[in-house]
Amino acid sequence: MFEAPAEGKELASVTKHVFVTGGVVSSLGKGLTSASIGMLLESRGLRVKMQKLDPYINVDPGTMSPYQHGEVYVLDDGSETDLDLGHYERFTSTPLTRRSNYTTGQIYLSVINKERRGEFLGNTVQVIPHITNEIKEVVKQLADADTDIVITEIGGTVGDIESLPFLEAIRQIPLEVGRENCLFIHLTLVPYLKAAGELKTKPTQHSVGILRQIGIQPDVLVCRTERGLDVSDREKIALFCNVPLDCVIEERDKDFSIYEVPLSLQSNRIDEIVLRRFGLQAGAADLEEWHELLHRLRNPEHEISIALVGKYAGHRDAYKSIYEAIDHGGIAHKTQVRVQPIKSEDIEREGAERLLAGFDGLIVPGGFGERGVEGKVEAIRFARERGLPFLGICLGMQCAVIDFARNVAGLADAHSTEFNRDTPHPVICLMEEQQGVIHKGGTMRLGAQPCGLTGGSRSAAAYGTAAISERHRHRYEFNPRYRERLEEAGLVIAGTSPDGTLVEIVELVDHPWFVAVQFHPEFKSKPTAAHPLFAGLVAAAVERHAGSAWVAEA
Ligand code: GLN
Repeated sequence: MFEAPAEGKELASVTKHVFVTGGVVSSLGKGLTSASIGMLLESRGLRVKMQKLDPYINVDPGTMSPYQHGEVYVLDDGSETDLDLGHYERFTSTPLTRRSNYTTGQIYLSVINKERRGEFLGNTVQVIPHITNEIKEVVKQLADADTDIVITEIGGTVGDIESLPFLEAIRQIPLEVGRENCLFIHLTLVPYLKAAGELKTKPTQHSVGILRQIGIQPDVLVCRTERGLDVSDREKIALFCNVPLDCVIEERDKDFSIYEVPLSLQSNRIDEIVLRRFGLQAGAADLEEWHELLHRLRNPEHEISIALVGKYAGHRDAYKSIYEAIDHGGIAHKTQVRVQPIKSEDIEREGAERLLAGFDGLIVPGGFGERGVEGKVEAIRFARERGLPFLGICLGMQCAVIDFARNVAGLADAHSTEFNRDTPHPVICLMEEQQGVIHKGGTMRLGAQPCGLTGGSRSAAAYGTAAISERHRHRYEFNPRYRERLEEAGLVIAGTSPDGTLVEIVELVDHPWFVAVQFHPEFKSKPTAAHPLFAGLVAAAVERHAGSAWVAEA
């Protein structure tokens, strides 16, 4: 048995590596599990870095449809990454950079560029060793004197052709850094078969079998299951998979909240197992904040509903960070928030009145392409006219400007040149730096940009500061030529780039809460620290729900 940890901690003399793989099926929640383990280790004082390796060939997910791959998560440094990195940032304080997410495409691109430069002159360039060496390098580069543990999650499912080079590379890493400095965690599914009335361990055995054929003996199995595993199930898995019994860990589905995952993993002592394996000593976990947030989630004092009007209704992963950030706003105000996704095309067909009446708030998220844009503009018009608390994000902000220009400033047919090149009033236009850009990958205005807030604005009050930094991902912007006219008509410019040229936030004064931003606040919200704009929206929605009637000034 593992002994109780001593007070204080002993830092790792060599950086340790934890590898997380998954088998049986995809969507097991490897990202969430990896993030939770990272969070538990951090809570015990260890310095953790996190990384995801994705087997697809796109250089990054920036060119993929959110339908297929979920949202593109943007980091401060402008890299467009997998949405699991959002879990990493929400659960841990590990600094993420473009070195935190690699794809097969990126690895091959780098190797092929080296080949063209002549770095392998005289050699045949092959998957082993050239591709696998490149993969090992991207993992090992995160190991430095400031890092106790690097957690590397391998995307995809064991047994896929695409994952093989990654698995081969992590098989080799223990040979270089020492087996005692590496820990392999494998997630599997233990399904319940109704007809047999029992849990089935065979898929787990097969999945571990494939890993062992590759040469990886997992040290820990995290078994995802709908029902609890009993000791005999765990004994069977331990025996057949060659893993100690206490390293067969159950991770039950969470009906209530994903924020329960770290606590349930901790009750199964996963942090202890990692520390024991590496011979590390660490203080007790400080999970006070986490318990508090779950307490708040369980004991809401208010209940509200918010409409999310976008292109991909019903596809939660497409707006993953927005759903999360709304929850955070709810946690901050002890409010249970029901989010109803609504297809913007449905608004075009059925009208905003019919679909939005009864909601306490509206969010229009980012997006690309013309489909459904008029429905978004219509939804925002409804929110503006009826005093419905509103948060517009990126394309949502651009649509707010279009509505205001058309319906308040009297600029008939105002539009974004993304959707109508010949509009008489291009209130949203291509940014100057984007003129002439042809390549689609990684060429938008991306990543953290500074923004100055206008004193007295709602945003300045919400942030409680005059200078902020937020993450961007767009090609179009508020057309500065229309600034004066729209301001005269009552639009408040609440935030601009520090030189004042780019409009980043617009607001309305005569409205309970109407804030629209060119950036993506959802990427910087945490369960323990809600983003001020999401918290602000929820607060306004709670007030509206409580019945404070709002009447537009005549
Ligand atoms: N399509 C718009 C642009 O490129 C908005 C992008 C977004 O919402 N992320 O500017």
